Amino acid sequence: MRFSPNLGWKNVPLKRFLARGLKASVAIENDANCAAWGAYCLDAKRDCGNLICLTLGTGVGGGVIIGGKLYRGATGSAGEIGHLTVDYKGRLCGCGSRGCLESMVGAWGIVKTAREGIARGRSPLLKRLLREPGAKLSPRLIEQAAKKNDPFSKKIWNDAGECLGAAMASLVNVLNPERIVLCGGVSKAGDLILKPALRALGKRAFKVPFQRVKVTVSKFDEKLGVVGAALLCLE
Ligand SMILES: [Zn+2]
Repeated sequence: MRFSPNLGWKNVPLKRFLARGLKASVAIENDANCAAWGAYCLDAKRDCGNLICLTLGTGVGGGVIIGGKLYRGATGSAGEIGHLTVDYKGRLCGCGSRGCLESMVGAWGIVKTAREGIARGRSPLLKRLLREPGAKLSPRLIEQAAKKNDPFSKKIWNDAGECLGAAMASLVNVLNPERIVLCGGVSKAGDLILKPALRALGKRAFKVPFQRVKVTVSKFDEKLGVVGAALLCLE
């Protein structure tokens, strides 16, 4: 495992560690790639050749299926959609680059946007919710505030959705997929993020590939990565 910005790991011989600990033969694959394979086998039932999966969690993971095969690229790191630049002068990302998709749409990016806004006094409601015992600034809390009509929280979701839609439009224009499957905690915000995302996708993508692509939230969600890993082992 060469580099994992959100774990802060570099060059970890993960396969050797696990094989020794488990006393079994071990194969390593990126979790978002496993989720993409799960989305391809379960959500799409292998009924389309070209699929993109986005896992919207702490960061944003991506996996790309082309011609019914997981696309790994030249050195095995393909599909890092979370580190697609959406704002070339934007916020510093854990990977060392700037304005990556996950710095805007990942849970850590959303929380950072909220924290900056709260510090500038933009959301008295979030500030009040955070004073409740056990409260923690999270996408879930920002979702609650948005559903209570807090304008700043609504704007956070709207901006995150628009950013996600812009990234999906780039993916649609470059790869012309039949399916985009979303999963992960942030996708649970539902219409708060999906509506602006689909609107931006429709505005920005080329017409014919946009009409063809089907965007769904995975029915299998949390299981997608593990079940996908198991299915990938069978290949
Ligand atoms: Zn990045």
